[in-house]
Amino acid sequence: GPALLFVKTGQGKEEGRRFYACSACRDRKDCNFFQWEDEKVSETRLAAREEYNRNHQPSLTHRQNVDRYKNFVLLPLSKRRFCLDCQQLLLPAEWEKHSDHQFLCDVTTAQLKSPSQLLYPLENKKTNAQYLFADRSCRFLLNLLTDLGFRRVLSVGTPRLHEMIQSKASQEEFSVRSLLLDIDFRYSQFYTEDEFCHYNMFNHHFFGGEAAHETCRKFLYEENGERVIMVTDPPFGGLVEALASSFKKLMAMWRETENEDHAKKEMPMFWIFPYFFESRILDFFPSFSMMDYQVDYDNHALYKHGKTGRRQSPVRIFTNLTPSTIVLPEEEGYRFCTVCQRYVSSGNQHCEICNSCTSKDGRRWKHCVLCKKCVKPSWFHCNNCDCCTLPKHSCEKTEVGCFVCGKAGHKRSACPSLSRT
Ligand code: SAH
Ligand code: ZN
Ligand code: ZN
Ligand code: ZN
Ligand code: ZN
Repeated sequence: GPALLFVKTGQGKEEGRRFYACSACRDRKDCNFFQWEDEKVSETRLAAREEYNRNHQPSLTHRQNVDRYKNFVLLPLSKRRFCLDCQQLLLPAEWEKHSDHQFLCDVTTAQLKSPSQLLYPLENKKTNAQYLFADRSCRFLLNLLTDLGFRRVLSVGTPRLHEMIQSKASQEEFSVRSLLLDIDFRYSQFYTEDEFCHYNMFNHHFFGGEAAHETCRKFLYEENGERVIMVTDPPFGGLVEALASSFKKLMAMWRETENEDHAKKEMPMFWIFPYFFESRILDFFPSFSMMDYQVDYDNHALYKHGKTGRRQSPVRIFTNLTPSTIVLPEEEGYRFCTVCQRYVSSGNQHCEICNSCTSKDGRRWKHCVLCKKCVKPSWFHCNNCDCCTLPKHSCEKTEVGCFVCGKAGHKRSACPSLSRT
């Protein structure tokens, strides 16, 4: 899909130079597309680009994959193979071609219903950053959604949540449905066009064109747009402004339903992201609040619930739903703060001076009278810098410039050069 417009900032220079680069890959190794904003691109280079794109399309279309799946499930267990090297379900006629690849035999129906277990996670940090929910967190999310009365979930970059919903719906009386939007095309092998859209959340691009767009719109429009929630867990290295812009477009899609109330309302949403992005997210979605629940992952060494005590995950749920309605599990130590009217983690003490439960990371924070706010327990007040900070710091480094233009005095979100971009 479309590239994003970035700005390169030279130190001391009045203005950065703007260029287009790939929206999805934050590593030039994954995609080296680069073009200055004002650059004239020759016909030859355009042709070469198109050629490159043609050669890098998936070998099978979504439709073809759906047909293959239908044939695959008809096969007896002994003929069901999955190529681990190609990450592909194989039909018997193709075994030969993959004979020197590693493959999995006897792929069961249960395995087909849990593609996130079958496929290996694409962990490359700068592109897919696929970190799958631990079962406990996934269950918690699903229970929370159903308890809140939602019946449809727009799963944006949450394949494991999608799959839990799908398999629950196929097994029992369970009326929640999900539509997965994700850039990982491998999922098209397991889901129909009504269950999965190949989508880029950094530029709101549907690879399946108008038909896929329409699938998403229809999904949101069902029941007149009622009882639908969007849940997203984007790569943490992603640009918040790009993500926010796409999510606003998805919200706008929902707002266009017949429902008159929607003109004033926002589509309910859970945005799962680390707590240190709180101010960035609130810049774009002032109606959101951050919940204390710590989201755990399976394949993330740092963010998973270990055997020996718990490593604290920095990942939280940001939502535009009323915080008091988000009930967090008491058996995991969360409690309700009647003053704040929300559930908080066990270590999060209500500060009488701030009149709020101030901890962001789950540890007990302490109030600094000089800063007039609560700070991390490991911080101390430095009289030189006139603020609380880490004990080990160099006092001179106080003037941090804006990320965009490098100048001091404002943050990236308020950068004057941004508004022109
Ligand atoms: N915790 C979630 C997975 C989150 S990992 C779960 O268990 O369901 C991030 C997800 O976003 C991955 O599924 C990845 O494929 C997807 N993703 C990464 N970049 C994307 C992009 N540009 N557009 C859409 N999805 C993307
Ligand atoms: Zn193979
Ligand atoms: Zn409180
Ligand atoms: Zn305080
Ligand atoms: Zn202080």
